[in-house]
Order: sequence, then C-alpha cells, then structure tokens
Amino acid sequence: MRLRSALRLTLLAAAVLATATAVSFAQDTAPLPKVRLIATGGTISNRDGGRLTAEELIKSMPGLDRYVRPEYEQFANVASGSLTLEQWLELSRRINQLFKDDADLAGVVVTSGTDTLEETAYFLDLTVKFDRPVVVVGSMRNPSTLGYEGAANLLEGFRVAADPASRGKGVLVVLNDEINAAREVTKTDALRLQTFQTRGYGVLGVVDRDRVVYYRDVIRRHTAASEFDVFAIKELPRVDVILAYQGAPGDLIESAVDHGAKGIVIAGAGAGATSGTQSEGINYALDKGAIVVIGTRTGSGRVAARRGPVPARFGGQTLTDEQRARFARRLSAEDLAPVKARILLMLALTKTQDPAEIQRMFEEY
Ligand code: ASP
Repeated sequence: MRLRSALRLTLLAAAVLATATAVSFAQDTAPLPKVRLIATGGTISNRDGGRLTAEELIKSMPGLDRYVRPEYEQFANVASGSLTLEQWLELSRRINQLFKDDADLAGVVVTSGTDTLEETAYFLDLTVKFDRPVVVVGSMRNPSTLGYEGAANLLEGFRVAADPASRGKGVLVVLNDEINAAREVTKTDALRLQTFQTRGYGVLGVVDRDRVVYYRDVIRRHTAASEFDVFAIKELPRVDVILAYQGAPGDLIESAVDHGAKGIVIAGAGAGATSGTQSEGINYALDKGAIVVIGTRTGSGRVAARRGPVPARFGGQTLTDEQRARFARRLSAEDLAPVKARILLMLALTKTQDPAEIQRMFEEY
C-alpha cells in the first residue's frame, strides 16, 4: 500500500516537473521585448576625450541582451541645459512616431544630463501619448571616473522599460536603483549619487537584482491620457519662473512680460507668498493679459487653487472689474514644482487662454 502511494507520488512529481519544464521552455523561446535607446548626452556619456555615442552606451552594458532586444539612436550629445525647447518638441514627436509606427516596440529609454533631467522627463510625461514606458536615465559620475554608475543605471532603465508592470505609469526616472515619477522627482543634491528624490511622496518602485518592484501609482493625468498634442504645436510660448525673496523687485516680472512672456510662474515663499515689492510687477503682468501661476519655492507642498467664481469682494473690499480680471488670471500651481508648473503652463497656453481652463489643468495633471 505504502509502495503504491510512493509510486503515485513519484509519477505526480514527474508530471509536475515536465509541465514546469514546458512552461520555462515556452518562456525561453518568447522573443525578448524590443527597447530603444535615444541618447541625448549628459554626464552619462561625457567621457574625457570624447563623448560616448548611443552605440557605445549600448556596448557598455554586459548582459543587456538577456533582458531586451536593444535598438539605439543618437538624438543629441549635449549637456541637458543645452537642449532647446524646439528639441523637446522634436524628441517628443520622435518618441510618439516610434510607438505609432512599431507596435512591437515595448519601451523607450532616453539618456539625459541630470541638471534639467526632471524637466525633460515631465515634458515627455505630458506629451508622449502612449502607455508604453518611457524611462529617462542619467548618471552623476562620468565614464572616466572611478565608480561610474552610468552603465548600471542604463541597464536598470532598460529593465524597467522592458517590464510590463511599467506600462501606464507615466514617464519614469531611473537612477541609483530607484524609480521615480517624472511629475514628482527633483534633483536634490548637486553632487551625490542619491540626488533624485520625490520629496513628500517617495519612490514609485525599485530595481532590485531579481526584479523590478512597484509600490504605488501616480493618479494624475499623464501620457496616454494627456490632452496635449506635440504634432499640433509649432512653438512653445515663453513662460518664465521668478523667485520670491525678501525685497524682490517687480521689474524683473515687467521685463519678462515686455520681452514676450505669456505666462509667469512665481516660486513663492511658503504656501505661495510673494514679496510685497513684487506686487506691482505681478499686476503689470496680469494687466497685460499674462497668466501668473503661484507655486512654492519650498521644494514640496501645495499652493491651493481657488475654487468657484472670482469673488465680488476680497479682504473686505468690493473689487473693481479690473481687479476681478486680475484675480481671474492669478492661478495656483497646486503641488507642482515651479519649473514643472512652467512646463504645464507652456503647454496649457498652446491650447487656451481661459484662466479657468488652465487652472483645471493644474488640478488634473
Ligand atoms: N551638466 C550635466 C548635464 O546636465 C550634468 C549631468 O549630466 O549629470 O548635462
């Protein structure tokens, strides 16, 4: 009796093993996801004596073809701050076109300098209208430095872009084994490797040796749910960011408007306080029809949007029509960092001049 059940157990084990082998064989033969690198430059390629090309970056990652079928192209090879707004539009159009033309393309990895990486990433977050992952990667040490972490970051970027769990999460920023949302991440330190942080909310996930792990989603509108269309935009309007500080002059704001700014973002103190000396400049901008968006210079937290119609009275005073028109054009950045509020305002102004509509966007994106 015991012998017979032992035999049954052995047969069962053999059957389970055979099925497992068949499953792993099926997985092994499934084609790896196709992921394309678009290299734009930055420290990650800034080798002494000549920048690494997209091809050299691909070759710097041993074992890459265990995870993906890589493709690559060189978009630019410059510091992040040298990318122009025209190049942003071109980059976004390129990624949209790649996804449109190739249903088999699982994801895109973009290399960028780290200085303004979060801005480029957020621009793509608002304008690449696909669920497939776009992952922006950089490094803090250059390829000629001992401890260069660029190849490791890039390999992790490819793993994240290839992972089906990354779909629909918006544009992702991967450095230092961490995945942050383009909307939320900020470079917080001039030199340290752990510079990219999401203050207040934390990472979306991590890239560990065994797998990519996610812990949360960004629920604001982005990528496939975005209303912005880079193919319909010829040029982004000028929007400037101006810092509030003790005694800050208003004439900087006036000058920005006189030089063509259609929008101003104030990096306000605390929950959006502006310096008293800036008020004239802000009123000048509002009277000229510019939109003024108030954010915070603190690095995290929210400047709340006004709800409902423009009030008839404010601070115990009845507002004149002129004051009410100013009031309507003075908006809030909600929790967007000033440099990101500027990007949303540029895109918003390509669609509408209606302050209520623009404020809606700040509450949705
Ligand atoms: N200056 C560089 C850049 O933003 C810094 C970096 O790549 O990390 O292009």
